[in-house]
Amino acid sequence: MDFPPVRDGDELRLSASTYLTYRQCPATALAKLEGIYGPETLPGFRGNLAHRVFARHLREGPIAAGDLQRVCREEIGSSALNYKLGPLGMKPSGLQRVIGEVQELYERFRRFPTEGFRGAEVALDVEATPGVNLVGSVDAVFDDSGGVKLVDWKTNELGSAAEQLAFYALVWTLQEGTPPVAVEAVSVGSGERFVAHPDAADLAATARDVAAVVDGIRSVWASGGTGERRGGPWCRYCGMLDGCEEGQAAVDLLD
Ligand code: SF4
Repeated sequence: MDFPPVRDGDELRLSASTYLTYRQCPATALAKLEGIYGPETLPGFRGNLAHRVFARHLREGPIAAGDLQRVCREEIGSSALNYKLGPLGMKPSGLQRVIGEVQELYERFRRFPTEGFRGAEVALDVEATPGVNLVGSVDAVFDDSGGVKLVDWKTNELGSAAEQLAFYALVWTLQEGTPPVAVEAVSVGSGERFVAHPDAADLAATARDVAAVVDGIRSVWASGGTGERRGGPWCRYCGMLDGCEEGQAAVDLLD
């Protein structure tokens, strides 16, 4: 499939996360592209750790209950999670609680079928058009009905899973030349599930949305501005909150 034409501009690596963030608040997406991130959060830490445990299960097989403590500590020690303990102010008792929560999630996760498993944490990176790379990491890829299914696991609610999966489906298609037969998001915490079978019209619509985000980012870069600010519940997790009136107003309203 062809990616729509976009305006010329600086090179851009657009991830699923930045794409979704831009749709909420362009200014915070642009800040992330400049390396300005929000504070670390406990749910984020727990979710990242759970995903590492899920990927290890898929690659190496089931983890015995008595081994999960050790596996969690190995995964923290060998990854960027190790550097988040300090900013989170994590005490040994707090870490123990998080590992207990990950254990509960893993007990549910290990009941999921794994037939057709092809890969975990599969990196996507394709130059959609000169100077624009679309990137992401799919939790797992499974063989399914003569093609592949892309799966994303959530440890909380599904949130923007539909838009995230649409982005992955587009990037997979541009990279592999064939669309996935299905995309699926499952909340390990609640059991909620979303499944879609993206067709050519769906992929074209997503490509137009992504191209519009590329144009938006490049327009702001060209103007030297910082982008439109749109307050909402996401402001709590924005690295720009301290100096942002819109964000402060949104947070005050929610409080
Ligand atoms: S604090 Fe809210 S409105 Fe302000 S830049 Fe961040 S996300 Fe946007």
